[in-house]
Formats: sequence, structure tokens, C-alpha cells
Amino acid sequence: MILLDGKKISEEIKNEIKFSVEKLIVNRQRPPHLAAILVGEDGASLTYIGSKIRSCDQVGFKSSLFRYSSDISEIDLIKKINDLNLDSEIDGFIVQLPLPSHIDEHRVLLSINPKKDVDGFHPTNFGKMALGLKSFVPATPYGIMKLIEKYDIQTEGKSCLVVGRSNIVGRPISILMSLRGKYANSTVTIAHSKSKNLLELTSKADIVIMALGIPEFLKSDMIQKGSTVIDVGITRVEDKSKKNGYTIKGDVDFKSVSKKAKYLTPVPGGVGPMTIAMLLQNTLDARLLNSS
Ligand code: NDP
Repeated sequence: MILLDGKKISEEIKNEIKFSVEKLIVNRQRPPHLAAILVGEDGASLTYIGSKIRSCDQVGFKSSLFRYSSDISEIDLIKKINDLNLDSEIDGFIVQLPLPSHIDEHRVLLSINPKKDVDGFHPTNFGKMALGLKSFVPATPYGIMKLIEKYDIQTEGKSCLVVGRSNIVGRPISILMSLRGKYANSTVTIAHSKSKNLLELTSKADIVIMALGIPEFLKSDMIQKGSTVIDVGITRVEDKSKKNGYTIKGDVDFKSVSKKAKYLTPVPGGVGPMTIAMLLQNTLDARLLNSS
């Protein structure tokens, strides 16, 4: 089994980004600036935002975090987004999801200037991505595509099963895998909670991408020998032996699947770090777009 080492590849990408930032500085230009909006106190969101900010420091980006309490109104949140849209010192920004239930996520995402939408969730970027045009691609699917490319995994004509149809992972990765391109050109099936005969689908797929959020759901007897398995899942599972009280689990039973798959991403250290690296890449691209 070949481990798809997202930690290592993401470090390589971050070093390339850092080099590009150093070139900007040498040319007396300002570094890229990523801003993040966080509403509420969700523990997982705080962790994700924390690592995004730390990664900005690592590559020489400027970063700003705007925190609001969970009772902020939708109107006030959109006003803040408008300020960021107009701020010429900020190249890109993200609104950490999920948002509290009284806020309409779609209205919020629609209010982001697509040129600063480094998460790639705005319909303009999503539509361009679906058409195979240049756009900001959502960071998690972008990271998966990069891993596939870096490990030279053959995808053309292969059957690819995506389990999960969310707008941030399942649906975009299913589109990307079906587009024309050397590391795409797959025959894609997308499964979700209403799908029947999941076992039949997983056992026939050459490539299985798991993005459902159920710990260790995929077992070795569900896959073909020699398949490629990408585990997107990140779930905190109670673990009293750990200082923080939890352990992180993916959607794949790593121990058993690693004996049968040809390629496999670990959790942690697989798709997670790639997601952050690709968010930084989108921000660098936004910065360069800004100066051109
Ligand atoms: P969502 O909860 O938005 O979507 C889950 C999807 O899984 C839904 O489409 C749902 O179907 C489907 N599903 C649920 N149960 C089953 C089942 N038994 N069989 C088949 N399909 C099922 O999750 P996300 O896409 O946001 O995230 C998925 C996982 O990936 C989570 O663990 C999340 O933490 C992780 N994640 C990791 C990232 C990373 O950087 N590594 C980034 C983003 C997410 P239906 O649509 O019918 O409800």
C-alpha cells in the first residue's frame, strides 16, 4: 500500500508558496492577506481557523480574524462581508461554516465578491469550476486533485465513487473527477444517505472518495483489491486516554483497508493538510490577480 502523504505534499506546496511571497517582498510588493470570519464558539471551527492562521504565518501571508458572537444578525454579517469586499488590502477571505441556524448560508456566500472567494463556494466560482474554467476551486476537493496528480494516480476511464454530496466536498470532487484532464476523465458515481446498495457501489469502484463523516465506515470487505481510497472524514470521537478528551477518526477503517487498497490517505495527515495548503494557494492566486 502506498500512503498518500498529505502532510509531506502540503509542506512542499507551502514552501513553493513561501518562495512566491519572498519574490513579492523582494519586488517591494505587499504579501498576500487572508481574512477569516468566525461566528460563534464551535470547537472544531476554532481549531480549523487556528491552523489556517498559523499556516498563513508559516508562508509569510498577513492574516486577520474577525470574530462575532453567535447572535450576530445576518444583515450585520453581510455588512462586514461588504467591508471586506471593498478593502483593497485584503486579497481573499473565508466565512467559516457552519453558521448559526438563523443565518441563511446561501445569502451570506452570495454576498462575497467572487474575486475574493478563496473558498470557491460562490456560485460564480462553482459554476466556472463545473464548466472546467479557471476559478477558485474549493480547497478540499482541490487538495484531493493535487494528491492524485502528485502521486501520478491513473484516473482516466476508471470508475470513481464519491460517498457524500455536500457542496463543499462531495459534489465538487465528483465534478472535478468527471472533467476532461489527465488526472480526471473518470466515470463518476455519487452516493448519499438515500443511495441503495452502497456495498455494490464501493466494491466495484477503482477509486473511492469517502466524505460522509461517519467514523471508520468503509471496511476492507467493501472495496476492490488494489483500489485507491481517499478519506476526507474528520470526526472527533471521545477518547478519555487523550488529554483533550477526543481522537480524530476518518471515514475509513485504516487498519483493514490499508491491507487491500493500493493507495490510501491517512487521517490525520492526508486530505486535511492539503485543504489548508490549497486555501493558501487560492489566496496567493487572488493576490496575484489583484496586482495584475
Ligand atoms: P455533510 O454532513 O455536509 O455531508 C455528508 C454527506 O454524507 C451527505 O451527502 C450525506 O447524505 C452523506 N451520508 C451520510 N450518511 C451516509 C450513509 N450512511 N451512506 C451514504 N452517504 C451518507 O459533510 P461534509 O461534506 O461537510 O463533510 C464530510 C466529512 O468530511 C466530515 O467528517 C467533515 O468533518 C470532513 N471534512 C474534512 C475536510 C478536510 O479538510 N479533510 C474538509 C471538510 C469536511 P445526504 O446528502 O443524503 O444527507
